[in-house]
Amino acid sequence: MKQVEARYYEKLPNNRVRCLLCPARCAISPGRLGLCRVRRNIDGILVAEAYGQLVTLALDPIEKKPLYHFMPGKPILSTGANGCNFRCPFCQNWTISQSKADTVYYSPEDLAEISARGGSVGIAFTYTEPLVWFEYVLDCARLLKKMGKAVVLVSNGYINEEPAREIFPFVDAANIDLKSSSADFYKKICMGNLDDVLRTIRLAREYQIKVELTNLLIPGKNDSEKDLTDIVDLVAAIDPLIPFHISRYFPNYEYSYPPTPISILDRAVAIARQKLAYVYPGNYIRESDTRCPKCGLILVKRQGYSIELPYGRVTVCPGCNREVDVIW
Ligand code: SF4
Repeated sequence: MKQVEARYYEKLPNNRVRCLLCPARCAISPGRLGLCRVRRNIDGILVAEAYGQLVTLALDPIEKKPLYHFMPGKPILSTGANGCNFRCPFCQNWTISQSKADTVYYSPEDLAEISARGGSVGIAFTYTEPLVWFEYVLDCARLLKKMGKAVVLVSNGYINEEPAREIFPFVDAANIDLKSSSADFYKKICMGNLDDVLRTIRLAREYQIKVELTNLLIPGKNDSEKDLTDIVDLVAAIDPLIPFHISRYFPNYEYSYPPTPISILDRAVAIARQKLAYVYPGNYIRESDTRCPKCGLILVKRQGYSIELPYGRVTVCPGCNREVDVIW
């Protein structure tokens, strides 16, 4: 295992350290790990233990991230590490985020070298939380940008401002989970903080990152009529043009509630479409084409992860000349 000193921490008395990477601000005693389980205090030095340790590497359609407005139809090599700074009891990837899976070491140069494999447009850091893998993702992202490759994050958005400002110039697109509009939900269920996530979303947009949001609807937890309207208002207040994915929950990890009823998902989509231009159902089958918000023309037709482009990779809508909100 490569021992890389973590960025963003301070030393405390008695060889303890405080990690300053994310808002959890863990105070860590010698030998112990932070909340994310991948940053360890070794004799008063904070070490990023997951550096280069990949749990998986797969060529995915970019739609699977999900990203619908960034390079539609292109494959992207996707990877992730162990660890997460949230504790969501419904985690759909808990075997790697909340537990320790076997890993294989790839240096940033190794990863950059294979980033075009199978027609991949770059690297997506996904599956678990890439921002607690900060040092490795930053080193890879710098290399990939030099090569002109795409860098994608699929993240919970829980990072402090200073490190976010360091890494965001090297990121092209991100899907950020917006788990709820309720601060209580974040605090009690995820052990996180809504305001910090909202700050990250705004910051990512400030750096011209193509941001899409995902809301996983969990029965009885964040799917009341008020939840559905509040979250849409929250997104609309940031920008009604942000692509918004409403995703179906399935029982996993500590939650055994049944899957989200389709009627609730359809209701959520209908509410969202009143205020947001691009609303996409996820994890269940419904129409998820990208339409021009002005004239309604279908610009990207989707079936599962496959797409058709009725007018090709157009930058203005052939129906009304409105600029198309897609990076091809
Ligand atoms: S990144 Fe990990 S160790 Fe650092 S503050 Fe966040 S949860 Fe704690």
